[in-house]
Amino acid sequence: MELLSIQDTHTAFQKGTITCTELVQYCLQNIEATGSFNLYVEVAAETAKAQAAALDEKRRKGDGYGRLAGVVFSIKDVLCWEGHPTTASSKILQGYIAPYTATVVQRLLDEDAILIGRVHCDEFAMGSSNENSCYGPALNPIDPAYVPGGSSGASASAVALQTCHFSIGSDTGGSVRQPAAFCGVNGYKPTYGRHSRYGLIAYASSFDQVGYLVRDVADLPVLFEISAGIDDRDATSVDAPYHWDPQSGGAAKRIAYLEVPPGLMDPEIENAYQEVINTMKEAGMDLQGWSLSLESFLVPTYYILTTAEASSNLSRYDGIRYGLRAAGNDVETIVANTRTKGFGKEVKRRLMMGTYVLSSGYYDAYYRKAQKVRGMIIREMDLLFQQAEALILPVSPVMPWQVGAKLDDPVAVYYADIFTVLANLTGQPGLSLALPGSKGLFPNSIQIIGPRFADDLLFKTGLNIAQLF
Ligand code: GLN
Repeated sequence: MELLSIQDTHTAFQKGTITCTELVQYCLQNIEATGSFNLYVEVAAETAKAQAAALDEKRRKGDGYGRLAGVVFSIKDVLCWEGHPTTASSKILQGYIAPYTATVVQRLLDEDAILIGRVHCDEFAMGSSNENSCYGPALNPIDPAYVPGGSSGASASAVALQTCHFSIGSDTGGSVRQPAAFCGVNGYKPTYGRHSRYGLIAYASSFDQVGYLVRDVADLPVLFEISAGIDDRDATSVDAPYHWDPQSGGAAKRIAYLEVPPGLMDPEIENAYQEVINTMKEAGMDLQGWSLSLESFLVPTYYILTTAEASSNLSRYDGIRYGLRAAGNDVETIVANTRTKGFGKEVKRRLMMGTYVLSSGYYDAYYRKAQKVRGMIIREMDLLFQQAEALILPVSPVMPWQVGAKLDDPVAVYYADIFTVLANLTGQPGLSLALPGSKGLFPNSIQIIGPRFADDLLFKTGLNIAQLF
């Protein structure tokens, strides 16, 4: 058996050719068989089985059920699920039980999707390899000697290994798209504001979006129709309901591709990228090269602003209100000891960096300047989208690396975020599309970015491009 697309699974359930119980059983078997990949930190076997049995019963009786009945999913350990632990894969949140469910998760549950468990991630979603997790590294589904990417690495691996139909992750600077590319699945970060962030543990609030990892790109708009939309509990969510109509046309016709300076990417990626461009041109697509003048500012701007926001967001973890509490005779010692014990190395590094760029002597030089550059990047991208409807570019300039290989070089890992942080700096939607036909061990992928609120155009353009391969 193989997991089908979301639409086909639901249709099979409706027809009675497959039951939810069989689907849950299949996913649980795969979770067990892939235990050595270290993906799940909670498997909700009993609640999933009970939910499946109830749905099967409803179908037998002819009672109504939701649009996602039959579909099994997992969530990244930064999304709250009422009554369950939510730890951001950090020691500082050990023992914390979520008192409510994140809006995006709830909307899927309301349509009868079956939540099979929680997968871990880089601590507080800070990282690109899933190695910064207090649960140890999650492993790549294609070769477990390699990282699955991050921070939603376990989500991508869990989808690739068919332990679930889809996984929900979060994307602040590429955390859904880059692991999707490393694991051979599709990843989607919507336009900022289209998904509620309520119940998502905050990393950098003006960048964070909840996103999806799926095997079949056609699943994305189906899920998005259910999960997108305004939420009273998130003031940055936007009143823009989404309706998926596959017949309505609307894929991008004029497409720009990013001209990447030589030497910036691994040769395998450079070759694969060139082949994608050639294939699209040969198919008659209107493709024009374009270079981003602010390219060298992307990574520094992203890391100044996100660490600043993180230092503010993570100041709530004081040992008093949530999770871990270390010993101490006064409040200051308790707070200091809790943070010393509770935060991992990478999180500490970022909190120090963020506090530094916000400090009175350096605020203007770093934080304010980075805000201005962010504005310039937004304007440059807006100008591009007056001439082209979509931009294609690589997802990552580097191939997956071996577990442990880059632990001593965090800055090199930061620079590998260059192509994904762009869409978070601008709030534009980004799709990481898995492509078949790789010549090496790891799969090919391509990224598509569109104007803000052009999520529909991205789905359709993605489906069009996928058909060429
Ligand atoms: N790799 C990026 C970082 O470490 C992206 C993280 C994310 O999107 N959550 O910040």
